[in-house]
Amino acid sequence: MTTDAELIEIARSIVNPKVISPSATAGSVGSALVTGSGAIYKGVCVDTHCSLGFCAEHNAIGSMVTEGETHIKTIVALHKRGNIISPCGRCREFIYQIDVKNAETRVILGEDRVVSLRELLPEHWIDTARVDTDSKIDTAE
Ligand SMILES: [Zn+2]
Repeated sequence: MTTDAELIEIARSIVNPKVISPSATAGSVGSALVTGSGAIYKGVCVDTHCSLGFCAEHNAIGSMVTEGETHIKTIVALHKRGNIISPCGRCREFIYQIDVKNAETRVILGEDRVVSLRELLPEHWIDTARVDTDSKIDTAE
């Protein structure tokens, strides 16, 4: 089982700010997450001109979804200055919308501070819109 301290160190280990093209940088934030199955995924942010980039959390979640998982047990993000940062509003929404069980995702906000995603997204619209969260997208052609 991965501890919070281990997850923080994994996120810290991938922070590596660099210019990757004349219009893009990457790696100023690193994120690591552990899923309900115990798998670990990680990713860095990619920042581009014209706001085409994405957050480190998105990158880690994309890897997780690629491997067929959606339930995040714990997630953390670290800034290049070494501090743990809270997920932005878009990431909070993204984490919740990919799996409503992620309302209980543990979000590490400090060395000794963890909150649930639900605490960061009170009175969520999905909870009040009666969205059918069990519905499946029809993938048949
Ligand atoms: Zn974000």
